[in-house]
Amino acid sequence: MHPPTPLRVAIVGSGPSAFYTAEALQKALGEAVRTDLFDRLPVPFGLVRGGVAPDHQNIKAVTKVYERIALHPGFRFLGNVQLGRDLQVQDLATHYHQIVYAFGCESGQRLDVPGRDLLSVHTATEFVGWYNGHPDHRHRRFDLAHAQHVAIVGNGNVAMDVARILLADPECLASTDVADHALAALRSSQVREVTLLGRRGPAQAAFSPKEIEEIAELPDVDVVVDPAEAALEPLSAAWLERDGARSQQRNVKFLQERAAAGATGRKKQLRCRFLVAPQQLRGRAGCVDTVVVQRMRLEADAQGTPRPVPTDTTETLAADLVFAAIGYQGVPVPGVPHEPKQGIVPNREGRVLDRVAGSELPGQYAVGWCKRGPTGLIGTNSLDAKATVAAMLADRQAGRLLAPQHSAIDALLAQRRVDVVTWADWQRLDAHEQAEGKRRGKLRHKVVDPEEALALVRRLRDSAASG
Ligand code: NAP
Repeated sequence: MHPPTPLRVAIVGSGPSAFYTAEALQKALGEAVRTDLFDRLPVPFGLVRGGVAPDHQNIKAVTKVYERIALHPGFRFLGNVQLGRDLQVQDLATHYHQIVYAFGCESGQRLDVPGRDLLSVHTATEFVGWYNGHPDHRHRRFDLAHAQHVAIVGNGNVAMDVARILLADPECLASTDVADHALAALRSSQVREVTLLGRRGPAQAAFSPKEIEEIAELPDVDVVVDPAEAALEPLSAAWLERDGARSQQRNVKFLQERAAAGATGRKKQLRCRFLVAPQQLRGRAGCVDTVVVQRMRLEADAQGTPRPVPTDTTETLAADLVFAAIGYQGVPVPGVPHEPKQGIVPNREGRVLDRVAGSELPGQYAVGWCKRGPTGLIGTNSLDAKATVAAMLADRQAGRLLAPQHSAIDALLAQRRVDVVTWADWQRLDAHEQAEGKRRGKLRHKVVDPEEALALVRRLRDSAASG
């Protein structure tokens, strides 16, 4: 049996892993593949638009690569189409040979301690989405005008982004694509001290050296580390020597140098705390004002990796705002198998399973964070997509495909009155956002309200049609 030509593939999501999947398919099959990228939002690029910090435009520039992938004649973007609302998995199965889930992990893990429901306790995901103008988070309020002390739980790169945005001079953001509401709030911010709470030691800090060094280079900010916490206990010292990555060794060196140097009297501080985890959040009038932290010690697990274990010692820290930067969490999508612990789609090397360790669902695949969990940099998703595409191509060769009866999903979407945002629509919206940004002295003025974005898309579409 010859593989069908063209191979029709539905990709659910339009972030990095979705584009890298389209690219790997294009490279393997040339013009013999059609990829339709669906997104529930009217705009593409997932976390590159809604997650990467506005002062990291060099990272956001990866969209230039995605724009080249979109030039392929078999590529289509179908924005404003939500799986589970406008289309069901069954609809995709009757229109495509293969379905790829690339919808990432959309929410943030919440803290699991008493007091987590107090006002001013948020996930980092909410804050990141807010300053990026993500439609899900644009309405949020962060009372920066009355906050001097901020505690961030976790010390990964998301914690770094949040800390940097809180501590940097907001004027450095003014010319970027930061959301206007966020810039206004950051301009009135009283935040003077951000404390990172790492439950393990400096050798296990999850941030990249470049990220902590970037904060240390901010003109008004001291990075402060307690020498006692910067010192490695014997377990970590041995682990670092044996298993530590070069980045972890660089982190330890940097933190110990900061500890030795001490504060230099700059007006803002980033305090990097180690071996501490929140035990309880306390507040007044419904708002958080104190974090009770528990000291941790490290114990080797079966693989020899140092893991945190609580001790009986606690201390209190003042905090007017608390962010949980303890990882993203996938949310269930109707009709798609879901593993609730990490919130991923259960899969075996990218082939979707009906349940964890269950049977393969032919023709369904996962890539990116919804495949492997919320870890890795943008580039990690390229290798990850290539691996899933290798499985897809093997299945195509073996005839293990869905059996679509229809070829065009457009008629079904039109029948359901879904106003699909095409790639051409997006290009016009993109040009509009950039032109509007230029007028205001910034890179881009994002349209953050999806209804407004859709109205604008229709208007730009009509005026393009009328020449
Ligand atoms: P992450 O790197 O996994 O860091 C999560 C942090 O939360 C770790 O410090 C972890 O400590 C801690 N943690 C987890 N559960 C906890 C709990 N219950 N109590 C206290 N602490 C807890 O995740 P992330 O910061 O969300 O980043 C996700 C991925 O995106 C990462 O791969 C990151 O590098 C990437 N990213 C990159 C950039 C960039 O390159 N600029 C920016 C943003 C994100 P343990 O280590 O002890 O588990």
